[in-house]
Amino acid sequence: MPVVDGVRIAAGSQGARQFSQTMTMPAPNPPPSRRQFLGNGFRGAFLFLLGSVTTLLARRSRNQKTVWQIDPLKCVMCNNCATQCVLQPSAVKCVQVYAMCGYCKLCTGYFEPEPNRLTTAAENQVCPTGAIKRRALEDPYYEYSIDEALCIGCAKCVKGCVMFGNGSFFLQVRHDRCVNCNECSIALVCPGQAFMRVPSDEPYRLRERGQA
Ligand code: SF4
Ligand code: SF4
Ligand code: SF4
Repeated sequence: MPVVDGVRIAAGSQGARQFSQTMTMPAPNPPPSRRQFLGNGFRGAFLFLLGSVTTLLARRSRNQKTVWQIDPLKCVMCNNCATQCVLQPSAVKCVQVYAMCGYCKLCTGYFEPEPNRLTTAAENQVCPTGAIKRRALEDPYYEYSIDEALCIGCAKCVKGCVMFGNGSFFLQVRHDRCVNCNECSIALVCPGQAFMRVPSDEPYRLRERGQA
């Protein structure tokens, strides 16, 4: 008489028949062919690779740092960059792209719109701090460069350059000064909404020849 879980079941009874049906073993699966085996292996390796790449990309995007920068095409040249930065003088400075214009006969970013004379006298200059340096080159041309230590980011020279020149002067957040505030206090009041977050490995937005 079979015993199931300590309960004795009479041979030939309905319980014994059910027990013998339950205990019928299924036929074993045939072993995988070589092709199936290789296919399973490749699928496994592919899924593992996909998982690793996804994890790597997720980790990379988490780690990618961003910083504040100005889109020079959106800047409307107000005075806020000079006055609203948490640093004084501001972390925003005028930069000059020499590939567009390194020298000029008459720089409209340097001179007042109606200067008394075309000399380096302070009253003839747009820049309130004397941050734009003018150096004689081959007559009648001069080279113009920015002394960033003196620049306060007021954008007056940018306005002169954009209105009458080719826009090679423009403002940028300088990352050797900016402390990368969570909320940039200039961005909050920028009328052109020119501030944006950019990847720290591409921290500048330079103007190019022919941009409006
Ligand atoms: S606050 Fe905005 S619009 Fe004004 S100068 Fe700065 S970037 Fe340009
Ligand atoms: S005019 Fe203003 S933005 Fe231009 S160089 Fe002088 S301080 Fe800097
Ligand atoms: S992030 Fe902070 S330090 Fe940098 S430009 Fe803006 S206000 Fe100035």
